[in-house]
Amino acid sequence: MISRRLLFTVMIPALVALSTTSASAATLKVVASFTVLADVVRQVGGDHVTVTSLVGPNGDPHEFEPSPSDARNLNAAQVAFVSGEGLEGWMDRLISASGYKGKPIVVSEGIRLRTMDEDGQTVTDPHVWNSPVNVKVWVANIEQALADAAPAHAAVFKTNAEAYLKKLNELDAYAHSKLEKIALDHRKVLTSHDAFGYFGREYGVQFLAPIGVSTESEASAADVAKLIEQIKAEHVKTYFFENSNDPRLVKQIAKATGAAPGGELYVESLSDAKGPASTYEKMFRYNVDQLVAAMAKAS
Ligand SMILES: [Zn+2]
Repeated sequence: MISRRLLFTVMIPALVALSTTSASAATLKVVASFTVLADVVRQVGGDHVTVTSLVGPNGDPHEFEPSPSDARNLNAAQVAFVSGEGLEGWMDRLISASGYKGKPIVVSEGIRLRTMDEDGQTVTDPHVWNSPVNVKVWVANIEQALADAAPAHAAVFKTNAEAYLKKLNELDAYAHSKLEKIALDHRKVLTSHDAFGYFGREYGVQFLAPIGVSTESEASAADVAKLIEQIKAEHVKTYFFENSNDPRLVKQIAKATGAAPGGELYVESLSDAKGPASTYEKMFRYNVDQLVAAMAKAS
């Protein structure tokens, strides 16, 4: 790990020097930290932005080893977006390595955040996008930042944002209508890490997970034992993998409790273009459908 980091730092200046070609006048060059955010920026920016995601499809946005090309992309960006609230712990290091002079826009600013207790410490849950109600705040922040960077296109960004807000309202209504058909005491699911807190808050679903709000943390044997007891006591019958996380621990817990596999959820990373969750809209609908199907079967 250390040698990779050193190599990375040494390589950057030379590569950045080679990559000073400027963005075309017509489109804004934009970088977003991860795929879910990149998609929402594309929805608002439309034809006037070229968006690059740093973390790629099916990638883990908590733990990320940026490459020299990520540094080049960031260095060339006219606007950079992060979700914030502790999600992208690797970003500051990348900013200094890349020589990027701007300050990333934190799109989650203004969202009513969840905090929770993790091993005696209060932590903020960064997975705001798993409720489309929160993504509406992202959209407002993205529209503002793009309009500031390219005032000539402000009217287009506004039109795009309004159209996308309508879609987000539809997603929210879809989830409410689907989930409200499931009895409240059956809306319980086991997942790998605590990424669905905002979804749970919005739609009355209880998610249990062995790992906390960041995949950087690890579950202790005592945590796992406690969780197994809780799953049994609360009759949680279904578990899900995450597309961007190692499924071994959740499988092991499921085996000890008798919970059945429900499939895969897209928690913090889109699929590639061929997969079932290539946009935020598809990801959210896919997750709702998977969860509802599993909970209906278990009830
Ligand atoms: Zn996460």
